[in-house]
Formats: sequence, structure tokens, C-alpha cells
Amino acid sequence: MTPPAGRHFLQIPGPTNVPDRVLRAISGPTIDHRGPDFSKLTLEVLDGLKQVFKTQSDVLVFPASGTGAWEAALVNTLSPGDRILMFETGQFATLWCAMARKLDIEVDFIPGDWRHGVDPAQIEARLAEDSGHEIKAVAVVHNETSTGVASRISDVRRAIDDANHPALLIVDTISSLGSIDYRHDEWGVDVTVGGSQKGLMLPPGLGFNAVSERARAAASEARLPRSYWDWEGMLETNPQGFFPYTPSTNLLYGLREALQMLREEGLDAVFARHDRFAGATRAAVGEWGLELLAQDEREYSSSLTAIITPEGHDADYLRKVILERFDMSLGTGLGKVKGWTFRIGHLGDLNDLTLIGTLAGVEMGLDIAGIPRSGSGVAAAMKFLSAG
Ligand SMILES: *Cc1c(COP(=O)(O)O)cnc(C)c1O
Repeated sequence: MTPPAGRHFLQIPGPTNVPDRVLRAISGPTIDHRGPDFSKLTLEVLDGLKQVFKTQSDVLVFPASGTGAWEAALVNTLSPGDRILMFETGQFATLWCAMARKLDIEVDFIPGDWRHGVDPAQIEARLAEDSGHEIKAVAVVHNETSTGVASRISDVRRAIDDANHPALLIVDTISSLGSIDYRHDEWGVDVTVGGSQKGLMLPPGLGFNAVSERARAAASEARLPRSYWDWEGMLETNPQGFFPYTPSTNLLYGLREALQMLREEGLDAVFARHDRFAGATRAAVGEWGLELLAQDEREYSSSLTAIITPEGHDADYLRKVILERFDMSLGTGLGKVKGWTFRIGHLGDLNDLTLIGTLAGVEMGLDIAGIPRSGSGVAAAMKFLSAG
């Protein structure tokens, strides 16, 4: 195959397109991670991260993928045999549950249909039954990247409070941070888990934990084995601008630049831009006559849209056609929804025309793959975007 001209369209829901400014920042010389320039960089980045997590508490940065940050959240707060509550929103919730079980945590995994978010009423009912307070934590995924469903975390918080239960609240925001409104402090979250390669517009390789006072108190009692993931070394060295082991120096340059970009646009404008792209994408899906995987409009994700292909049409064949013909990557169906769903990532560094180009690639792909559509989704999305 001849290499195509122009840019590859990376429209998967993470990793996302890395802005040129961030790539340039990352290409700087690697410096001494125990020297004075590095200390300044760390302090600046940690301060900027607090604004994105909307917290006054500490945010810790691990050289890791999001999965590492999941593990850090669990091993620092829990002990072997502890019970926790999780909710089956989709593939990422399922993987996190499997991890917890490997770590010798007892998970009550509330079943879900992969088309809805966390049901706060079920959380409240389970906690209300637990009068002995055996459940130590509720761990949920904010934006379920396999389904395009965003759970209402403030309602989950309310459910825990209404049950009058002391469980910690642990939330995965790997695909929502920096694209969908999220408030660590206001929603009383104890550990927020994040990653670099989605809304934060960086390459993969940084994992985050925002840690409340209650989470720190839990860490002093927690007995799961931990070494690399131990918060303590981070909490000791971060205030001076350092890390207990070698951090991802160049990714932190990129993070500084990405945080600056988010500040320049303003977080509220960033969220509004994602809401608008999601609205335009849903307008396209509706006009094509295809079905969304998400069923509750209160839970539509603004960072990605998962779409069902009609009976008898393979979603991965559609993705293959689009990659080969138009050099665009779309998200595959994961786990239980593999083969009959595909995902359009519309998060991170993109604008109106990137989105229209993306939807045009999908529309042409549908035609080439022989998947019937009723109208032009691209026209519907253009109308949506030009209206405001
Ligand atoms: C991407 C993602 C993960 C996994 O992160 P990795 O960086 O691949 O380890 C976990 N949870 C959610 C919601 C994600 O979107």
C-alpha cells in the first residue's frame, strides 16, 4: 500500500490526537530529574492538575498507563479480603473488577446491560443493607469508554450519603478528565483515577490518582502489598518537586503544555465543545438511521459515541474499510459488544472540521461496506454545527 498523504485520522476514544504544541514540548532535552529545573516543572504541573481534577487535595502522577493508576487506587486504600461494590457498566468496569479480584478484594459486581450507567438507586440499596459497614469502597467508572455512557457521579455520591454509609468513593475518569465536567472535591470523591492519553491530549504513559484526606487516612490502615504504587513516597517527595523514582520527564513537559492549552481555552469551554461534538455526532447517527448503544439521554457521553451496526453487518469490517480507504481509525467494539458496535472518539484536540471529516469518513465507509442508511448524517451534523 502506498503511504497516504495528509494526516492519519485517529478517532478512537484514546489515545487521542496529540496537538503539535504538545509534541514539540515533549521533544525537549531530557533533564536531571533531581535538579532545580525539574523541581519547578513538577510543582507547576501538580498545581495545574488540581485545577483539572477540581481539587485542593494532592494529585499523584505515576509513570504508567491508566491500568496502573487503577491498581494504585485499590492497593493504597484496601486490605486483603475487603469487600467493595462495583457496577458492570461495560468492558472497563469489568476489567477493573477482574483486577480487584486478582488483588484478593471481594467484589460485589452489580450486573448491568452495557447500555446504561451506574444506577445510584441500586448502590444505595446495597449500602443500606450493609448495616455492619463491611463494604469499604464503591468503585465506579465515570465515562465507560466501551459503551459511550457517562454515569452521574454526583448522584452516586448522593446515594452513598443517603444510605449513611462510610464507604470510600473511587472513580475512574480516564476517558472523561479534560473533556466532561468532573469535580473531585465537590462530589466528595476519595480517589479519582486518570490517564494521560485521552482528554489530556498526551501520549499514553502517565496515570493519576487524586487523593482525599479520607483516602490518605485509609492508606495508613490498608494492608494490600504495595511498593511501586505506594502513595507515601510520592506524598513525601512531591512537595519539593521530586518523585521517589524516575518519572516520565518528557511526558511531564507535554503535560505542562496540555494543561496550558486547557487553561487558555477554559475548562467550561472545553466541556461545551465536547458536548457540541457529541450532539452533532448523535444528529448524524439519527439521520443515518442507526442506533446508539447508550439508551438514556441523561447518560450520553460527550467524549465518544458508540454505534450499533444493523443485524448482519460486521462493525469491524466497516472499520477495516474506513481504515484502508480513508486512513482513519475508529474504536472497535470491546467485550460483550464486539462485532456489532463501533466507536467514534470525539475528544481531545479536534475542531468542527475534524469532526465533519470524521463523520464523512464514516458515511462513505457505510456506503462502501453496504450498510444501509436513511439520510446524510454529515449534512445533519453540518446543520447542527452551523446552528451554534
Ligand atoms: C482507557 C481506559 C482505561 C485503561 O487505561 P490504559 O491506559 O489502557 O491502562 C481504563 N478505564 C477507562 C474508562 C478507559 O477509558
